[in-house]
Amino acid sequence: MMEEVKKEERSLNFLEEIIEEDLKNGKYKSIVTRFPPEPNGYLHIGHASSICLNFGLTQKYPGYTNLRFDDTNPETEDTEYVDSIKEDIHWLGFEWKNEHYASDYFDTLYEYAIKLIKKGLAYVDDSSSEEIAAMKGTPTEPGKNSPYRGRPVDENLSLFERMKNGEFPDGSRTLRAKIDMAHINMLMRDPILYRIKHAHHHQTGDKWCIYPMYDFAHGQSDSIEQVTHSICTLEFVPHRELYDWLIEKLEIYPSHQYEFARRNINYTVTSKRKLLQLVNEKHVDGWDDPRMPTISGLRRRGYTPESIRDFCDRIGVAKRENMVDVGLLEFCVREHLNKISLRRMVVFDPLKVVITNYTGQEEILHSENNPEDEQGGTREIPFSAELYIEREDFMEIPPKKYFRLAPGQMVRLKSAYIIKCEEVVKDEAGHVTEVRCTYIPESKSGSDTSGINVKGTLHWVSVRHAITAEVRLYDRLFKVEDPTDEEGDFKEYLNSDSLQVLPCVYAEPSMKNAVAGDRYQFIRKGYFVLDKDSTSAQLVFNKTVGLKDAWAKEVKKG
Ligand code: ATP
Ligand code: MG
Repeated sequence: MMEEVKKEERSLNFLEEIIEEDLKNGKYKSIVTRFPPEPNGYLHIGHASSICLNFGLTQKYPGYTNLRFDDTNPETEDTEYVDSIKEDIHWLGFEWKNEHYASDYFDTLYEYAIKLIKKGLAYVDDSSSEEIAAMKGTPTEPGKNSPYRGRPVDENLSLFERMKNGEFPDGSRTLRAKIDMAHINMLMRDPILYRIKHAHHHQTGDKWCIYPMYDFAHGQSDSIEQVTHSICTLEFVPHRELYDWLIEKLEIYPSHQYEFARRNINYTVTSKRKLLQLVNEKHVDGWDDPRMPTISGLRRRGYTPESIRDFCDRIGVAKRENMVDVGLLEFCVREHLNKISLRRMVVFDPLKVVITNYTGQEEILHSENNPEDEQGGTREIPFSAELYIEREDFMEIPPKKYFRLAPGQMVRLKSAYIIKCEEVVKDEAGHVTEVRCTYIPESKSGSDTSGINVKGTLHWVSVRHAITAEVRLYDRLFKVEDPTDEEGDFKEYLNSDSLQVLPCVYAEPSMKNAVAGDRYQFIRKGYFVLDKDSTSAQLVFNKTVGLKDAWAKEVKKG
């Protein structure tokens, strides 16, 4: 299964090839990468790819990875996001060398801007953003020079300082690089380097009212940190020319930008801006809603860091964008949970079974915690004359080859005895309220001498001993594979049935002291995790993923 993409066997990705070459020919002795999130939302599964890539490279090769907050947009950013990002990277299992903020470099960037002005390579433009856009030209037509392009250096220096001092209102002026308004790359047509924004910044407070643009902060921050391989997503390919131009003209450390394909997953959206809308408009219960593709949502859903790292490793690094099947993510978590989850019995929709020949009060049975784990041990399960089984595990008039419970038929109760259905009890409306059975005392699991073979094994709980819990079942957040590729607003494609709550299920008592984050396989049901909403009075479980491996089937078919 999936062997073709197993880690041990995969060949070097294109970045590893570049790095191995750089190390071999002595260009670098060690490498520096960085993960540069903008703190304007929570990290999502797409970011996990970038994290695993950047940190993974410096685990494999000598060097280190920095965490850098790309915080040049004061209005959309917040320390809540900074904190969540750090928590998520740690949880994924990575450790950064230095924690930096682009805003730490605002003084240096300001000096860099002055250097460009002095070299005659930047000017203050009094044009409005509309005027600048109108002069930009099109991919096939050159742009027009701004009337302010020829300003003398001294005037530019003075105006830029006054911009910094807060003398001008928002949007009234910008600092632009002086490159070429006819450049074939539109981003090289005198790009804006600084804009005026009288906004409070979460790191620098009210110190600044001019803020550098992404292009004048990112590459310079890379350079200041002496990042060797600056890895970003493909939409930044056209920015590379400007990245290199600025480094060359400023005569600073030559970091290099490399691009890989953004990862998108079907039936969800991976854009912080869109995820923020879902949160703000209350389509979901916060950033960590278990339906969200955020790291915190996946964590609350019961995903393990190992499974997310495995997923990122399997999808690898690509140069062309593609949509990844969410089934692969589910496959990865199912594989891991199978190895680590404790097995427990939980009945969702109970039907009472009375064992008429069981004379004991109760008895303690033992069952394996996890057949996949030799050290897993066993747990105690109380058995008594009154049990619950799943209503769907009984049929009064069964079809052929029905191996569950039916009048006259025998089944095994998991880790307990074989029982035989003797009588069906109904209410006045004809609804089955109880099933009366006999049990075979010699058929006890582990010491079965009955010689009887049955095909069906059912999960069950003892009525008197069961504890109740709430279970939350999740489905895809969106009804279509790519909600952003459809007509109209992406939110029109939300799946209104993505959450189903079962307020009262019956669980074996061994889970009474479960704590948030504990993971279980509910036998025959799927993988579940105890949610943080749980209290001592009410346990709440989230379904992480079902038992059935739809993805593997797809792979075989394909
Ligand atoms: P979003 O659109 O969700 O805000 P972003 O690219 O603006 O994404 P950043 O905070 O700037 O978010 O991203 C930090 C890093 O993560 C960047 O290097 C970016 O290229 C990378 N990244 C973001 N989304 C993805 C994705 N879907 N797949 C791979 N890498 C991603
Ligand atoms: Mg961004």
